[in-house]
Amino acid sequence: MDPAEMHQARRLGLKAYRHFQGMEGRSVPVSAYTFTVAGGVSPPPYSGLNLSAATGDALENVVANRRLVDRFIGHGRVRWLRQVHSSIVVKAGRCREEICEGDGMVTAEPGEPLGVLHADCLAVVFYDLEKGVLANVHAGWRGLASGVLEECVSLMRRDFGAAPSSIAASLSPSIGQCCYEFKGWRELLPEWMHRHVKGGCLDLAGAAVNQLVGLGLERALIARSSICTSCSTEFHSHRRDGAAGRCATVAVIEKERSHGAL
Ligand SMILES: [Zn+2]
Repeated sequence: MDPAEMHQARRLGLKAYRHFQGMEGRSVPVSAYTFTVAGGVSPPPYSGLNLSAATGDALENVVANRRLVDRFIGHGRVRWLRQVHSSIVVKAGRCREEICEGDGMVTAEPGEPLGVLHADCLAVVFYDLEKGVLANVHAGWRGLASGVLEECVSLMRRDFGAAPSSIAASLSPSIGQCCYEFKGWRELLPEWMHRHVKGGCLDLAGAAVNQLVGLGLERALIARSSICTSCSTEFHSHRRDGAAGRCATVAVIEKERSHGAL
């Protein structure tokens, strides 16, 4: 792993993958991170920084871990969703007081951090460079098949005036094709995803990139992590560990760079 990809906050004991790298010099005024298992208070098998209460881990551990992430991000409480492997994308403003159900959130507010939970699945962070609109989406194979990325880009266009050609996207670490054996792929996956299966193993991130390009995003504005969450021991992996914790990807529009930076 290239150490330049990782950001360590020694004071908090956290370590995270930094998004929007290698964007050919384009400046993206967004702080976005995918957290590793480092730090945190959860005992095995949720070792370290588990951020999901739906795993069997004690709620007080999850709350303590989320507070650490809040401090790392530095913009108050991160907004979370009740994720259901759907294509539902919501405006984050709705989720300030209640926990919304869905798998993606969109905001144009600087300083409003959006969180997505995952272990092996992708988080895809979107940012429209012209309109200053941010989205964070949870996408596994079900999400890709049900069109959650398309739904997100549609909402960014419809409600915020974003254009696909000015949207930058960054894909989190996720399970790689090296480890993602997919039984029954011919029956379960839609036909367009079949070409991303080799030797019975699915290239989830490759399928996502293909879908994003099909939606009109520029390849040069799509960043993709090469880290496999199952090979690397730094991330939670549902496939590798069975009963596992969940990592999170959190993204926020930076306040100080949100005006006039582009
Ligand atoms: Zn792997």
